[in-house]
Amino acid sequence: MLFKPAQPTNPMTADPTFRHAHAPAPGTTRDPRFDILFEPVRIGPVIAKNRFYQVPHCNGMGHGRPAALAAMRGVKAEGGWGVVCTEEVEISPCSEIAPNFEGRLWDDRDLPALRLMTDACHEHGALAGIELMFNGYATPNRYSREIPMAPSHLPVRHLDPVQARAMDKRDIGNVRRWHRNAALHAREAGFDLVYVYAGHDLGLPMHFISRRTNRRSDEYGGSLENRVRFLRELIEDTKDAVGDRCGVVVRLAVDQLLGPGGITAESEGRDVIAMLAELPDLWDVNIADWSNDSVTARFADEGYQERTIGFVKSVTSRPVVGVGRYTSPDAMVAAIRRGVMDLIGAARPSIADPFLPNKIDQGRVDEIRECIGCNICVTGDHLCVPIRCTQNPTMGEEWRRGWHPERIAPVHGRHASDTALVIGAGPAGLELARALGQRGVEVTLAEAGRRLGGRLLHEAALPGLASWMRVVDHRVHQLKRMPNVTIALDSPMRADDVLDFGFNRVFVATGSRWRKDGLGRQHRQPLVDPTLAQVFSPDDIFGGAVPASPVAIYDDDHYVMGGALAEKFARAGLEVHLVTPASKVSEWTEMTMEQARIQGRLLELGVHLHTAVELVDVTVTGAGLTIQLNSIYTTARPSTLGCASLVLVTMRDPCDELWRELLARQDRWHEAAVRSVECVGDACAPGTVAAAVYAGHKAAREFDAVGGDPDAVPFRREMIRIES
Ligand code: ADP
Ligand code: SF4
Repeated sequence: MLFKPAQPTNPMTADPTFRHAHAPAPGTTRDPRFDILFEPVRIGPVIAKNRFYQVPHCNGMGHGRPAALAAMRGVKAEGGWGVVCTEEVEISPCSEIAPNFEGRLWDDRDLPALRLMTDACHEHGALAGIELMFNGYATPNRYSREIPMAPSHLPVRHLDPVQARAMDKRDIGNVRRWHRNAALHAREAGFDLVYVYAGHDLGLPMHFISRRTNRRSDEYGGSLENRVRFLRELIEDTKDAVGDRCGVVVRLAVDQLLGPGGITAESEGRDVIAMLAELPDLWDVNIADWSNDSVTARFADEGYQERTIGFVKSVTSRPVVGVGRYTSPDAMVAAIRRGVMDLIGAARPSIADPFLPNKIDQGRVDEIRECIGCNICVTGDHLCVPIRCTQNPTMGEEWRRGWHPERIAPVHGRHASDTALVIGAGPAGLELARALGQRGVEVTLAEAGRRLGGRLLHEAALPGLASWMRVVDHRVHQLKRMPNVTIALDSPMRADDVLDFGFNRVFVATGSRWRKDGLGRQHRQPLVDPTLAQVFSPDDIFGGAVPASPVAIYDDDHYVMGGALAEKFARAGLEVHLVTPASKVSEWTEMTMEQARIQGRLLELGVHLHTAVELVDVTVTGAGLTIQLNSIYTTARPSTLGCASLVLVTMRDPCDELWRELLARQDRWHEAAVRSVECVGDACAPGTVAAAVYAGHKAAREFDAVGGDPDAVPFRREMIRIES
């Protein structure tokens, strides 16, 4: 231990003004166990009204869609979050990360856009925080073409053929000045909290602190004290510039999970906090890099960061905020009582349920829409499009479609008395029935099976995906309390049934089925005889089929299914070959930041990985199969694989036969009082669970907009202002 630890004190009890728990809102029935979550917390010169803290999170809107962004943040504030922060905000064109849409504060022309957000937060009593960011070698500056800067000469983190140059003293002075100016502008824009950012391996101060990226021999390199100098200077500059009115927050990754070669919570991470213990007004601590900070539920449970960040409060008396995908108020209370953190930080739980704090406050804990830990929200940032969420279909749609996560107007006009039949209770049908029920429609939800949940009944049983059932549980819980919704299980619907019942509006949400002939992205024509006894689809596996070992999985789908089945089979003791034309297994999970973990886990389980190869032929050899493979790059490198069984994970067909039959019998609609028949979710076009939930929600929102103008752009857009 290099430095004497600060005395552990509780910032709440140290200040007599904070002894009394914040009283529940009048007329509410908050469980007194959760009172502690509603205590105010002082952060330097400002006070957060409670301990619910939306930490910075990217959203694919940023400087490109500021009105949409402000509306999204405003909904969080309305939902009760005491603090609502931006995503990372670029402070200079020398550190921009186009094409991603982050925040931008290059000069005062960016202030009007940022004010939209601070106004939206203040309207609901939340503090607004801004995460000022200088990316160092973590950006190639693709848009500005400025040369990135780092403590030492280094290739940038991206694969772009770009190197960051080593900063000289003048560069250091420039960045300090840009940061100081940005802090002043942030205060002018109305922010209450200003960040100095050294998290995730992305912020320049982190690059100075870490020996891996700092090879300097001057007073900014060498000893830890020297490597921390730049961060210390930025904190001091920021306090000096805005500390009178704004709380100064430091976000620091206390562990890079790289072992002794990097920063670890046991050594340098702890020492940095101890050295700067009382300097910031709040410590926001986490784990680097982002994929370690936002681990999916498949690889980490609620509270997973506690063992890494748990020491922080023992070396500082300043308040501490941390994250861990907390959705349970009991876990939140425990984290505070055990002295792990003072404020419950949340990105994903606040995305899945912007009203999480209010629901706890109002004794509606059972209504929390719990994050499932799938990281579909992260894909928006990576793909440079507005954020989306599996659990919360309104996320990212607050401004452009005017969708609120908790409120939908009752159906009005000529459709007000229409009855609805929703056929199929997968994620699309469940959300559609729930949202229609919320709108006051008389709904019947008919499901062929004995349980509600559709595809999720099987998918959530795959290794690590149990939390995906929250999509079902949340909706079923709501539906069962709606007097205007009738649920009919064991009710396979045929066209005659539908027409006999006489519902006015019919929604077919009958899902999809996997093909097992190899047709997919790589092969646009069938390739395998699906009647072979050794050939299976994922649906066969879900139906109870057990493939013989060794089993080959051909994954031309590239999301979770192929890798999850490989894990399931390997855990069951089968010899598994995972074959894919992609260069990595489950390649699209790069977007959810899971790919490396999936590939690592499969390797640890002994799964044989065959990447960048396509299936070209399958022949029966005795009781087994011989699979011919080709490199996707050249036919000169064919190979064969002998196996006992083959599972094809290539594409799904919509189960839309019922919809087609109803369309074909349109002549009977009038007498049956049917006004419309729509196909929704996977039955229309198979996709993610998030897409199915969204489709169900959208159909419910558009219930009274039948026959809208098909030529009109269906949402608001933020148009680019032409500057002279
Ligand atoms: P989505 O993802 O679009 O919600 P799923 O495949 O998860 O689709 O769910 C579709 C559901 O529809 C399944 O639970 C299935 O049992 C049910 N279903 C399919 N055909 C019928 C039918 N004719 N009548 C009633 N339910 C059906
Ligand atoms: Fe949670 Fe998934 Fe929604 Fe992200 S997309 S907030 S991980 S439920």
